[in-house]
Amino acid sequence: MPELPEVETIKRELQPLIINQRIKDCKILRKDIIGYPSPERFCRGLINETIQDVIRRAKYLIIVLSNGKRLIFHLRLSGRIIVMDEEKDLPLKCLESEFKKTQFSEKFEFARLIIKLENKYLIFSEPRALGRVYLIKEDEKPDVLKGFYNLSYEPLSPEYDFNYFKNKIRNRKAMIKSVLLDQSICAGVGNIYSDEALFHSGIRPTRRANTLKIEEIFKLFLAIKDVLRKGIDEFGTTVSDYKRTDGKSGNFQNFLCVYDREGKPCKKCGKEIIVKKIGNRSTRYCPECQK
Ligand SMILES: [Zn+2]
Repeated sequence: MPELPEVETIKRELQPLIINQRIKDCKILRKDIIGYPSPERFCRGLINETIQDVIRRAKYLIIVLSNGKRLIFHLRLSGRIIVMDEEKDLPLKCLESEFKKTQFSEKFEFARLIIKLENKYLIFSEPRALGRVYLIKEDEKPDVLKGFYNLSYEPLSPEYDFNYFKNKIRNRKAMIKSVLLDQSICAGVGNIYSDEALFHSGIRPTRRANTLKIEEIFKLFLAIKDVLRKGIDEFGTTVSDYKRTDGKSGNFQNFLCVYDREGKPCKKCGKEIIVKKIGNRSTRYCPECQK
């Protein structure tokens, strides 16, 4: 699942490719991926707008359009954004109704939305069709995007300081793992980076947040920032679906200590990494190093 470092990587790769491009056309291949507004209004609202910037907020990728409109992608589990050059990779066919019958439809079996730019295509591909795309005006706050308006500060921003983090978690009775996944506490952090941060701070994911000592909270605070930065430096983690915009994998999977390593020896102590369900999410940890 794309988390903060993966979406940040996609953002950085998209910026030089699509900024200043005008949107010429839009084709929705699966209507239910349009979260807001209606599919008809969505396409009408996009066409002829110019892309002014590409930004990220938590796990959301945001394309800022002329007139202040925002095209928001929530990739969820397996959403991908692919950029294709018009001449080289994809003929105009893909915007025609016969798209599904072309040789390209196989390559883009999971294409749900195709946006035609001046000389490129921006394709939203999503095998599970759980990802969503929204188009909102600057002053709009639709209910379907409630989670988006309830995010914590960005964990890598200066505002996200130790006091802010400590106050967010210290009175929580839930297990620390579940607390870290709460987007109003740690925006952009998901299963991968929460497991890794807990390992590096030596904290067992089943600990109740309100039992953490101040030194432990501080270690965890530093570890979160650290794994996120490292994740970005390594272009994200590819263990299942995540791919960069050019189809390449990230590198951070080579640095994982617990995530996706159940049954393997701990890199620190050699004990077997175990996996446990916490709040419906598989959580990995070392029973020796994490207390
Ligand atoms: Zn260990």
